[in-house]
Amino acid sequence: MIIDGKAIAQQLKDEVREQVETLTKQYGRKPCLDVIIVGENPASMSYVKSKIKATEYCGFDGELIQLPESTSQDELLRIIRSRNENEMVDGILVQLPLPKHIDEQSVIEAIAQEKDVDGFHPTNVAKLWLNQETIVPCTPMGIMALLAKSGTPLEGRHAVVVGRSNIVGKPIAKLLLDKNCTVTIAHSRTADLGAICREADILVVAVGKAKMIKGDMVKPGATVIDVGINRMEDGKIAGDVDFDSVAPVAGAITPVPGGVGPMTISMLMYNTLKCYNRRMSNLCANQ
Ligand code: NDP
Repeated sequence: MIIDGKAIAQQLKDEVREQVETLTKQYGRKPCLDVIIVGENPASMSYVKSKIKATEYCGFDGELIQLPESTSQDELLRIIRSRNENEMVDGILVQLPLPKHIDEQSVIEAIAQEKDVDGFHPTNVAKLWLNQETIVPCTPMGIMALLAKSGTPLEGRHAVVVGRSNIVGKPIAKLLLDKNCTVTIAHSRTADLGAICREADILVVAVGKAKMIKGDMVKPGATVIDVGINRMEDGKIAGDVDFDSVAPVAGAITPVPGGVGPMTISMLMYNTLKCYNRRMSNLCANQ
């Protein structure tokens, strides 16, 4: 089975759009997401374009703030603080990676936690690990939705996550653990990666190395989620999983493109709606 991320992401965007219509009538204004990009990294520009397109589809307000590569950290922090203080702004997204002279963690921490639509703020990360209500990072949440929609059973099954980044590997491992999977996290120092991957009923790969996982590393019937986005020399995009050799072995697999990528964007819409709804209902409760 090919897990059609594009179709599932579209359903989610339609649900968000519907809720935006209702809530806009209730609260008297639309949700607002401001997106900040520094520099002109072509991959980042393309992600931002897709995010803006989705915000327009869902009926959000918002501003795209395009800053030159030379923008100082102080200037960026000043812009973020002004958005934090602006009552009309519900979500702030700073596209990563940032130019080398800017400290990413300082930027992440500058975003007000209640407007942190990416779920990267330390408070939101801590809440996730403490099982408290929070904003969950978009890509891991998108993966969980794909597993749910594809009817993949999770409880008691062995999930192997390859990659341990803060934005994908660690949070997806936590979400799978919450669903009672037995979770193994593999990384660049893991010995005999093939043997570990072959034990997986659910294999999530977020490494950033094109076609690294081959068919002989996958247990027959496993569900394989490919997070990787690698730009090849011919301009095409490839995942971290070698689709041609893995698809015949796997029970279900996400394609690249058209798998996890569109889900990340739809989950960003979901998180923005959530931030807006929380802020507006608090405001109404305090009036
Ligand atoms: P990072 O570079 O932050 O992390 C990569 C991880 O892979 C690290 O933990 C690293 O291990 C591990 N790794 C590297 N080489 C190997 C190897 N040979 N064997 C096993 N593990 C290895 O990447 P991200 O998590 O940010 O992204 C991963 C991929 O997912 C990228 O292609 C990225 O573009 C894509 N991505 C896609 C998204 C989407 O929406 N579809 C969203 C976010 C990312 P170690 O820690 O030991 O260095």
